[in-house]
Amino acid sequence: MMSRIRPDLPIYFLDTGKHFRQTLTYRDQLIAKLGLTNFINVHPNPEQLHDIDPTGELHETQPDACCAVRKVYPLKDAVGHFGAQITGRKRYQTPERAEMPIYEQLDEMVKVNPLAYWSAKDVTDYIRRHDLPPHPMFALGYPSIGCQPCTTRVSEGEDPRAGRWRGKGKTECGIHMVDGKWQPVRREKKSFEAF
Ligand code: SF4
Repeated sequence: MMSRIRPDLPIYFLDTGKHFRQTLTYRDQLIAKLGLTNFINVHPNPEQLHDIDPTGELHETQPDACCAVRKVYPLKDAVGHFGAQITGRKRYQTPERAEMPIYEQLDEMVKVNPLAYWSAKDVTDYIRRHDLPPHPMFALGYPSIGCQPCTTRVSEGEDPRAGRWRGKGKTECGIHMVDGKWQPVRREKKSFEAF
């Protein structure tokens, strides 16, 4: 959608250093196909990584800390100065996301989730209608794909993100929720027109 509206809008990709090889190939394929001219890869801070996850195995014992150093801190550094951020999350993805507001507020930033009401069928219909390539692992039983060590195949009847951090009691990486809660927009602060 953004490629049709504003292909030069900055699009941020969290390159955590733990992605599947197929994801990185798919990323490059989409950038070329869609003609995205302002695609920005965001990497963890090397010094923080060295201090917090020197062996690269922190995900096994402390996934929250691993997500913090590989996702939360780098994204905040990269986009924290913007007034607004658009995400592609959907309410059907997990029971927690079923409660996700359309507008959220994190510090002074408003997050907008225009696809929140979309169903899984809406997504596949859109992909088909616009001849978009699916992630190559989607057809192999991976409806939601994150870092390789924290993503497993999903069985029939499970929710789409059931394969993320399986068995670890974790459902979100921390870039969206604060203390396990959504942050509804503080309507009294600014009108949406201000963004
Ligand atoms: S998803 Fe797993 S590997 Fe990726 S940052 Fe989070 S804990 Fe680390």
